[in-house]
Amino acid sequence: MDRTLLLNSTYEPITVIPWRKAMTLVVLDKVEALAHYDRNINTARRSLRLPAVVRLNRRVPWRRPRIRFNRRAVFARDNHTCQYCGARGTSRELTFDHVVPRSRGGQTNWTNIVTCCVPCNQIKGDRTPEEADMALRVKPFTPYWLPENNSERVAATSELWEPYLW
Ligand SMILES: [Zn+2]
Repeated sequence: MDRTLLLNSTYEPITVIPWRKAMTLVVLDKVEALAHYDRNINTARRSLRLPAVVRLNRRVPWRRPRIRFNRRAVFARDNHTCQYCGARGTSRELTFDHVVPRSRGGQTNWTNIVTCCVPCNQIKGDRTPEEADMALRVKPFTPYWLPENNSERVAATSELWEPYLW
C-alpha cells in the first residue's frame, strides 16, 4: 500500500506512482486526492493522509506508455487469474487462451489472448467461448498501465482503486 493510482483530469487511470511522489503532487496542489489509505504522513507543517487515488487538477499532457504485449504483461493485466473460472495461479501454473481459436483466424494480441488455467484451457480446446459455454469474466483489452512491478506478487492493487480502474 505504498503506491498511489494516478488518474488524469477526466478520471482515467494513467499510471501508478510511489506515494511520496503523490504526496508531493498533493502539497503542490497539482492533484486532488480521491481516496486515502488509513495512514497519516507527517510533513513539516501538517499531517496528511496517505493518498490511495489522486486525480490531476488540470489537463496535463501525459503520454500514455505503450505496453509491450508479452506473457508477463498479460498475466499482470489479468491479475494472474484464469479469465474463465477465476482461479489464481503463478506464471508456471497458468497458460494462455486464444479467445477466438487460432484455427479460426484468432490473433495473438491483447484483445484475443487471456490468462487461462490449464484445466479450462483443455476443456475449451479449439472452440469459441460461446461454443464451449464458458463466459469470459472480463473482455480482453489493451491496457495502458500495469502495476509497476508486474511479478507474481503484484496484483495487490488496493481495493480503494477498484472504482477507478475500469
Ligand atoms: Zn480456469
